[in-house]
Amino acid sequence: MKLQYLVVGFAVVAASCSGSKSATTTATTEAAVAGTTQHTFETDHFADDAIVGDVTTVDCTLNNGTTTKCAEATFTGYPSSYKVGPFCPDTITTPADKAGIWFDGNGLYDLDGPFVANLATFYNDTGWKLYDSNGKVNVTDTQAAFEGAARPDVDPTYQNYCVEGRLEWLPDGKPITSTVQIPLQPFAASSPSSAHPGNFGVTLDGVVIAEAAPVDAIMAAHTIASFDDCGGHYNARAGYHLHGAMGCGQLEEDPSVDDSAMFGYALDGYPIHLPLEGDALTTAKLDSCNGHSTAGLGYHYHANTAARNAVLPCLTGAFVTTEGAGGQPPGGGQGNGQPGTEAGAAPDLSDTAAKLGVQVHELEDALAGGPNSDLDAAAKLLGVTRAQLEAALPPRPVR
Ligand SMILES: [Zn+2]
Ligand SMILES: [Zn+2]
Repeated sequence: MKLQYLVVGFAVVAASCSGSKSATTTATTEAAVAGTTQHTFETDHFADDAIVGDVTTVDCTLNNGTTTKCAEATFTGYPSSYKVGPFCPDTITTPADKAGIWFDGNGLYDLDGPFVANLATFYNDTGWKLYDSNGKVNVTDTQAAFEGAARPDVDPTYQNYCVEGRLEWLPDGKPITSTVQIPLQPFAASSPSSAHPGNFGVTLDGVVIAEAAPVDAIMAAHTIASFDDCGGHYNARAGYHLHGAMGCGQLEEDPSVDDSAMFGYALDGYPIHLPLEGDALTTAKLDSCNGHSTAGLGYHYHANTAARNAVLPCLTGAFVTTEGAGGQPPGGGQGNGQPGTEAGAAPDLSDTAAKLGVQVHELEDALAGGPNSDLDAAAKLLGVTRAQLEAALPPRPVR
């Protein structure tokens, strides 16, 4: 992508939002909040192919103990409004429009050939050299290479690689769906969630909005976990997921509402809109989780700019955690969904991640098989022993 062509927040790509979703499952609650209308979960806002099957209304328990009604939907895990990729540049001269992007928490960069060629200078670290003597970039071009390079303890063979995945390398060569429960009526929590709620939500395109990518660990191995121009990439366990809001697949802007376009729902049921910048950001007076209330929309979030490598800092509302869902992902974790994990980590999982020295995101990915996941495989992915993993897991392990 060529970044100069991107006007974050006000781009013209619109999710197909024809409103043709099954009428029987319209999950809309209009909660009156202080004289305004709270915008809540609406199936019709999702792109036509974002949801597998019907959205159902289920009883659910939120992480603050509230029992309420949730919309339960299985998301495709693959964007319906745009084509995934490209990711890594082929050579050190590959132009920006033939490659993806990189963001490290400090900036957003075109991941073009010249950027890769300049890494040692850019990061002031002579350990970087992602290309060979012919200028060909080291790109993970086999499933084994992808899995070796993408795991938290990068296989030494794949240090100095640009990491990219492919759909065909996911289990069965298919997108990984996730079943998520989202409260029909949001409930403000007494305090914001930790910065690691598991995942933050889902896009209107049916893609999981993940926590910050662990760029410190990624870069410590001299790898670049490339993102496509929409801010997403593949993970062998979680499939395609989003780390940065780049303006893909959002709703068309509503001219009656003076705000940036919506592109997803947070797990607590509040809408997530595209980033605000400049004066708009200043006047918005966002809270610590990037939320604010407006007359037209009620409470909603604005994503960080992708450069920050965190779509949101935290969630202000209560949401369904793995524990809240009964300690088991709905759907039983039969391999087609990562529901429990995608629905947000229990606080216990943060402790486990801290004990193991890994990110909650990585831990969840490793345990993505839910109760049936293979602990040996998970331990290997995390670069720890099975004994260490078992010792660190909470008393009621989310396996
Ligand atoms: Zn990721
Ligand atoms: Zn707003």
